[in-house]
Amino acid sequence: KMELKILKFGGSSIADADCIRHVAGIIQDQNKESGLAIVLSALKGVTNQLISLAESAAKGENFESDFQGFVQHHINIAKEIFSENDTDIRCRLDDYFNELESDLSSLSPELKLTSQSRDKILSYGELLSTTIISQLLSQKNIPSEQLDARKVVLTDDNFGSAYVHYQKSYNRIRTYCKDRKKLQIITGFLGATEDGKTTTLGRSGSDYSASIFGAALNASTIEIWTNVNGILSADPTIVKDARTISYLTYKEAMELAHSGAKVIFPATMIPAKYKEIPIIIKNA
Ligand code: ASP
Ligand code: MG
Repeated sequence: KMELKILKFGGSSIADADCIRHVAGIIQDQNKESGLAIVLSALKGVTNQLISLAESAAKGENFESDFQGFVQHHINIAKEIFSENDTDIRCRLDDYFNELESDLSSLSPELKLTSQSRDKILSYGELLSTTIISQLLSQKNIPSEQLDARKVVLTDDNFGSAYVHYQKSYNRIRTYCKDRKKLQIITGFLGATEDGKTTTLGRSGSDYSASIFGAALNASTIEIWTNVNGILSADPTIVKDARTISYLTYKEAMELAHSGAKVIFPATMIPAKYKEIPIIIKNA
């Protein structure tokens, strides 16, 4: 049985068209050597843009020009990556833009911005990035499809940093992935409640998603691809001779993450430790 690796790419690794092509190349190379499942964040800066769109919409401000900027940002990247007459990708992106616009329009000062409607709006970041990258990989002859994690990652209704029901999620992930032949391009950061409401796992939570899928699918390793070389001994903006640490225990990594090391989301270590799956941090 072929071993399976989880590769997770953060927003900084998918900042623009060049980065996205680079990431697709990494996936293409690794795909020759082992089974893969890919977990993605939103494109760089997109979650923050969505938060501010949600906030202005909820204040009753005119969000139209910021919304058009958001749409254009994704379309410009898609134009650089895909050929002019690729109407398929354009339709899929437009569907999300329309849904997002209608979600934003449904907010108003009377209704206030609940963490529930905020999570729904944040979900478009990962839905869009996985749509773009699964299409790109498919065109590079790696048949790929988006896996909307809301179908399988079950959480409570603590919107904004939901608690994951591990065993049920693991079972759903295994069942869902069992007979899928295509490469799964998974939306990080997202989950859903039992009754299907969108939840998020906390800012930077797509590392955690990678670990959840890794534990569910008995991955051999979980690779977190980012823009630094690993976990540092101290904050390099404060300590000049901070250096990367070669090996840490799950407990040490969790402590460092809790005390501010931004490179990895603290809860990431929980599912990985449960199955003793090594987490490897790599600079894309
Ligand atoms: N896109 C989400 C965020 O910006 C999740 C992540 O990037 O890990 O927080
Ligand atoms: Mg991160």
